[in-house]
Amino acid sequence: MPKINSYRPFTPNPEQMAKMPDISGNSINGLYEKNFRRPSYVYWGNDPNDIIYGDLQKWFYTVDPKDPGFSKEREKRQKTLNQPLEAINQTKVKWSDKNWSKNLASFKNEKIFDKIGSTKFNSDWAFEGVNINYENIILLGFQHEYKNISEAPKTTAGVEVMRQYSRAASGAKNIANWLRKLGWDSEPLTGPMSGKITMVPAAIEAGFGELGKHGSIINPEFGSSFRLSAILTNAPIPLSSKQDHKVDDFCSKCRICEDACPPEAIFKEKKIVRGIKKWYVDFDKCIPFFNEHQGCAICIAVCPWSKPGVGFNLAAKLQSRAKRLTEKQVKIKLK
Ligand code: SF4
Ligand code: SF4
Repeated sequence: MPKINSYRPFTPNPEQMAKMPDISGNSINGLYEKNFRRPSYVYWGNDPNDIIYGDLQKWFYTVDPKDPGFSKEREKRQKTLNQPLEAINQTKVKWSDKNWSKNLASFKNEKIFDKIGSTKFNSDWAFEGVNINYENIILLGFQHEYKNISEAPKTTAGVEVMRQYSRAASGAKNIANWLRKLGWDSEPLTGPMSGKITMVPAAIEAGFGELGKHGSIINPEFGSSFRLSAILTNAPIPLSSKQDHKVDDFCSKCRICEDACPPEAIFKEKKIVRGIKKWYVDFDKCIPFFNEHQGCAICIAVCPWSKPGVGFNLAAKLQSRAKRLTEKQVKIKLK
């Protein structure tokens, strides 16, 4: 039985429910589909009129959070998005991996972003019907201010999410423009609109962490308290490695987010989604609460990894436990 929490029972606004399409968002996402296919647009449509859940997305914008912080951050983000990209220089710089790393790291020092990773681009991450002709992808991470996100689902947390999306848009554009001036074709991708690709699998490959039960990435630095943006690029940047912090084992024994999620949208077990077994959040249950609470974010806020100072100790403990278990198994085999 899920624990009682102060937001249960949750009864969605009938005005919102009247806009719910006949087709389940889980079906669009490919829940229980055994074969792989690329993702389809379900929410955060680049143009809400083009997606089945577009009327719900438009309804989300009508919920008045009574906090000017939202419109301020949205305007800031839009201003960044409206700025044209720099021209691509005809001469390409040819740098060593060390030089690329040093120069990219300098942006982190200036707080243009809080985390960076990169990997080869895989077309499986592009939405159905989208063709991408870039070799590599750079992922950028932007950490939420914990004090603000911990208040989810209050507006303080929603504004914090918007603030980080605004930083994410600016960070991606900054890096894309820098690469273009260095002669390398690059394109920024920013949330929360779906854009061209699903960023989560790309970020996992780029060393951002592992998928948690709540459907967001977890890493020891930020837990899951961060937002992503990306840059598609042909620049020959050094690539990062995938990380394993034993988050998956931890999630299989933890149920904090399951208990905290008001509409009980977080599945206890992994599900098959478009041919891949993974943690998955029930879209149809999550979206009404999400829409009525400025993006909710409770699951991110309550995850123990998100609390500053917890992640690295937790990861170290999980690694040494995994090591001890392996050593024990080797000893048993040798007997
Ligand atoms: S709250 Fe627990 S189960 Fe949920 S994502 Fe975080 S660690 Fe995993
Ligand atoms: S964002 Fe969705 S899954 Fe997460 S706690 Fe809120 S309703 Fe549940």
